[in-house]
This record gives sequence, structure tokens and C-alpha cells, in this order.
Amino acid sequence: MTAVPVLAYVGLGANLGDTAAALKAALQALRELPGTQLLRTSSFYRTAPIDSHGPDYLNAVAAVQTTLTPDGLLAHLQRIEQAGGRERPYRNAPRTLDLDLLLYGEARLASSALTVPHPRLHERAFVLVPLAEIAPAGLVIPGHGALQNLLTLVADQAIHKLETP
Ligand code: ATP
Ligand code: CA
Ligand code: CA
Repeated sequence: MTAVPVLAYVGLGANLGDTAAALKAALQALRELPGTQLLRTSSFYRTAPIDSHGPDYLNAVAAVQTTLTPDGLLAHLQRIEQAGGRERPYRNAPRTLDLDLLLYGEARLASSALTVPHPRLHERAFVLVPLAEIAPAGLVIPGHGALQNLLTLVADQAIHKLETP
């Protein structure tokens, strides 16, 4: 049986080391995932840390079409993070690379290892703004409503689009 490809969105973030290089390497790694096509990537955005500290973040969002399962895709994202030197000394610590599974089609999932949509995506400008750049205008976040409406709720969060990634 051939698995039906699903449109998924991945959030990328880094705030330690060469952040642009880390995001570009992660995008290349997404291109090389089995059963997966990298469809679109947003611009890179600079944002100040929220609930955290350290240097500014570089953030982006990628759209992929994949036949991987949600758990399979998450496992690959965690492998790519490890290859990017990710350590988890404490919660919200600065990091060389963070890859979050934001959306997996219209799925709503909640296990101990994986919650989809990502449980905090709807309140984060650094996710919603790059997502809006590459997603269809009418995108609905399962459980949270229209992306366009969520964007208005985070309009007070500073985010700066970089001209050249
Ligand atoms: P946040 O989740 O607030 O963005 P974080 O990205 O720093 O914080 P991590 O330390 O990277 O958090 O991840 C903690 C755990 O979150 C992971 O071990 C993973 O199992 C779990 N997790 C649950 N849902 C998701 C998801 N949609 N994408 C990525 N990880 C998830
Ligand atoms: Ca994260
Ligand atoms: Ca994460």
C-alpha cells in the first residue's frame, strides 16, 4: 500500500552559533528526508527570545509533503537537531537548532511525545508570521481557527524579516 502524502509544516529556530548556517543545513536535511519533498520555505526572521534569554533567534517555517508518519517525521527532526549539535541543558535554553512539527495536514494528535498542532504555535509571532508567508491565505489551525485571526493577536510581538536569508 502506498501512503498518501500529507502537507506538513516545520518550524525552525536557532539562537547560538552561526544561526543562518544552521537553518540552511536543516533545510537541506529536510530536502533529503525519505518520502518527503520540501515544497516552500519562508524568509528568515529575527526575533528576541520569549520566556528565554540569550542572543536573538533566527526563525523560519518550511512546508513539506511527506509520506512519513507524524512520529516518523518527528524522529527525523530530532535526528537533524542532534546533528546540528542540539543540547537540552534546561527548559527554553539557547539552542543551535530547534525543529518543531507545527502542523501535519489537519491532524490533531496528543501523545506523550508529540502534540499536533504544536501546542504553542498559535501564540507565537515567530511561528505565525513565517507560516503566513508560505501557507494558503485561508489556512485554519485545527483547534485554534483562522491563521489570519491568530496573526492579529500576536501583532504586538516584535519580529524582523531579513531581506536575504
Ligand atoms: P516548545 O515546545 O515550547 O517550542 P522546545 O522546542 O524548546 O519548546 P524541546 O526541548 O525541543 O522544546 O522539546 C521538548 C519535547 O516536546 C520533545 O521531546 C518532543 O517529544 C515534544 N513535542 C511534543 N509535540 C511536539 C511537536 N509538535 N514538535 C516537536 N516536539 C514536540
Ligand atoms: Ca520550539
Ligand atoms: Ca522543539
